[in-house]
Amino acid sequence: MNSSKSSPPFVLQSGKSRNVIFETPHLGRATPDELQRHSKLVEAAARRWDNHIDRAGEMMLSEVGGEWIGSVYSRMVVDLNRGPDRVDSRVSPDWPGARIYEDGGVIVPFVKNKTVLNALYENPLNPEEIEHRLKLYWFPFHDQLQARIDAILHRFGHAILISLHSAEPEPEHCQGDMPVIYLGTGNGSTCDAGMLSIIRTVLEKSNIRVISELYYQGAFTTQAYRKDPHVHAVQIELDRRFMKTDAEIKRQLEPLAAALQSVSTGGVGIAPSSSRAKRLSVRRTYIDPLTGDVLPY
Ligand SMILES: [Zn+2]
Repeated sequence: MNSSKSSPPFVLQSGKSRNVIFETPHLGRATPDELQRHSKLVEAAARRWDNHIDRAGEMMLSEVGGEWIGSVYSRMVVDLNRGPDRVDSRVSPDWPGARIYEDGGVIVPFVKNKTVLNALYENPLNPEEIEHRLKLYWFPFHDQLQARIDAILHRFGHAILISLHSAEPEPEHCQGDMPVIYLGTGNGSTCDAGMLSIIRTVLEKSNIRVISELYYQGAFTTQAYRKDPHVHAVQIELDRRFMKTDAEIKRQLEPLAAALQSVSTGGVGIAPSSSRAKRLSVRRTYIDPLTGDVLPY
């Protein structure tokens, strides 16, 4: 019996009651037991993650509250911030509908070292391996995220979904000693404009450079979950250069926590009945191209 089959591919923690959920899809660095034979995958998985995002998640949960779901396995195993339909033909040429994705898709075929591409697998993966990996590691994470969001909606009527990441900022955005935070909203399409404006203002008052256009506009998670009009989703890229000490983390995250407290709701929460009545069914479905199975996600 493989241990990875019995334990969920996510960690879930709760803070005080609040209509916010933090999601860290690039937290995990593990490779499941059954994939240990891919030595280059194991090596890349241990190194490639959103550095220090564990500390950021802990702090947001204690300062803001709500819930926090994070990946157990590396983004090299499956990238939870890519759609399950994005299978790259370089990792599995026989997958129905596979094509080349510039970013490598949901299961990346290689890692980039400067300009060199290093393949993670000796041979292409067969379609059954792809399907197995998505079913075991991708869908359970998003099923759980959707379930937690549904619970928040039931209680509060609205949910704030923060897809939390860390990145090295673009050199042209770095000015002196200011942390740079990217707020990704699909150019304003994934969350309420007033909410975005409050977050931006609070951060800027604390001497943080905020970039909310063109760069890091939010990938799968913000784009998919915002389809429910009661979900406000923002992909936040923290400045990796300012996360190595507690003082640096506080400098970025205390203003962010203050901003999120001011746009969110706490306490017991009672969903307005009118909003519940008006809710549309926005379940997304995925059709497994091998079996024809229809899966919600
Ligand atoms: Zn990330």
